[in-house]
Amino acid sequence: MKDRSGKSVMDRRGFLGASLAGSLLGFPLKKLGKAPALVRRRPPVVAVSSRNGLKAVERAYEAMTQGKRPVDAAVHGVAVVEADPRDMSVGYGGLPNADGVVELDSCVMDGPTQLAGAVGALRGIMHPAQVALKVMRRTDHVLLVGEGALRFARMHGFKEENLLTERARKRWLRWREGLSRRDDWVEPGENDLGAPGDPETGKKGKEEVEPRPTGTIHLSALDAKGRLGACTTTSGLAFKIPGRVGDSPLIGCGLYVDNDIGSAGSTGRGEAVILSNGSSSVVEQMRQGKSPTDACLEVLKRIAHFTRIPRLLDAKGRPNFQVNFYAVNKKGEFGAAAFYPAKYAVCTEEGARILDQASLYKRR
Ligand code: ASP
Repeated sequence: MKDRSGKSVMDRRGFLGASLAGSLLGFPLKKLGKAPALVRRRPPVVAVSSRNGLKAVERAYEAMTQGKRPVDAAVHGVAVVEADPRDMSVGYGGLPNADGVVELDSCVMDGPTQLAGAVGALRGIMHPAQVALKVMRRTDHVLLVGEGALRFARMHGFKEENLLTERARKRWLRWREGLSRRDDWVEPGENDLGAPGDPETGKKGKEEVEPRPTGTIHLSALDAKGRLGACTTTSGLAFKIPGRVGDSPLIGCGLYVDNDIGSAGSTGRGEAVILSNGSSSVVEQMRQGKSPTDACLEVLKRIAHFTRIPRLLDAKGRPNFQVNFYAVNKKGEFGAAAFYPAKYAVCTEEGARILDQASLYKRR
């Protein structure tokens, strides 16, 4: 972990502590003989996550300091967001698919074993990340989807529940009713005289479609033993075609961990991340020596280069969507970047906080 001057905070503190111990004992540090052992660096403990993960990084950090493996700490951290009905992009309260059914995607990856587990289009289970962890630990597979994933979750005792909150149902209904003028869905008040769309009133009609919010939580974690682990969990793109799976449950896309190099994950337009193999590309950039932030920026540049279809471009020819990458390397350096300015969450020994991400473009 580095402070603003680029120096490692842990190093400096460790060094000061060692110097102090040395001088208290009455001899200079140099003469201790085993000085290298005193300054030998233990990787700092780091949890880095998307903006919605402030509580999650704190929980994950704490779990790691109590000895939990990073992948377990990450799943433990994100559980708080999966269970939070106010977060409409993850778990319980997540926005549903086009049929009004909540379908969740998640994956986990464990650095030390280099194993992963994932579930896609899973219905009725609040904590898909925990199911993904079971796929990793209790099967010889990586990814289970749909009905099979649900049956597997049931076998492991996960409770089935209705994940569609009233708030999410109403958002979905607004979206459904506002989709088209040519279908049979009628928006509130539209069957009244003087309703929106009535030329007499000049009020706008159905063209103001409910925006499709995005969101997901990714959490990458590094512990003091240098072990890495990560988790990504989401309800995916709001109002998606049923069965659509984004980047979040795909290893190499929604996250990737190489225990020798680092861990990375993504949120934002999943299709763009899949097409660029986003998270494993970030890890590859770190392998080439890039800092976590620069590695994220490099892959964003690649996505921008790959984005050629006009409907995905703005007037300036830039991607008209957001993609975010988060990364931590083996040394505990961390960073995040997106196309457009955004924030992310991190927890280190200095506590949990929200920071600005680097961005490829200054503003939308
Ligand atoms: N990446 C998620 C997906 O495409 C959505 C998001 O993060 O906004 O399903």
